[in-house]
Amino acid sequence: MEDFQVSDHDLSDLALSEYLQAEAIAVDTETMGLLPQRDRLCLVQLCNPEGKVTALKIAKGQTDAPNLKRLLEAKNVVKVFHFARFDLATLRYSLGIQVQPVFCTKIASKLARTYTQRHGLKDLVQELEQVELDKSAQSSDWGNAANLTAKQLSYAANDVRYLLNLRQTLIEMLVREERLEIAKECFECLPTIVSLDLLQFKDVFEH
Ligand code: MN
Repeated sequence: MEDFQVSDHDLSDLALSEYLQAEAIAVDTETMGLLPQRDRLCLVQLCNPEGKVTALKIAKGQTDAPNLKRLLEAKNVVKVFHFARFDLATLRYSLGIQVQPVFCTKIASKLARTYTQRHGLKDLVQELEQVELDKSAQSSDWGNAANLTAKQLSYAANDVRYLLNLRQTLIEMLVREERLEIAKECFECLPTIVSLDLLQFKDVFEH
């Protein structure tokens, strides 16, 4: 793979300074499952506008990653996720990181692409980038950090590789449909939604 690096525990100082120069970076995580309190964080993937991808392995029992925290909390670098709600919860629960500012391509898609119900990453990449994503490693054992397969790593890298382009296309659609402001408001309230999720409230807004 072109510009792809695997790291352990934390970003190097060099990688941190490189990623900090970006206006926006793509971020994704792989975990043992869907419950942050039960299922540990295994991998954090990053991609900058130049296409530099890092897959950062998080060790079992690891509770912080100072350089990753500096990057993900840096106010001048937008962090682009697909379904940020989940990644923000696991990053906060596992590593104490309060990610901001955030752009979520799933929320943007729901607000802009009202002509479809298909808002999965695979659907978005297919329609907006004309690329067929192979998601067959999605539900695999990410806990065996020492022995991640080439297939798993290539899957993990592809999950961040298209997010920055998707963001640009979705911003154009949101502007056209006059929904960029409501999208930004949704992104800004994500930390609150994540707090409620981690406290296991289902829907405090419901009647
Ligand atoms: Mn992923």
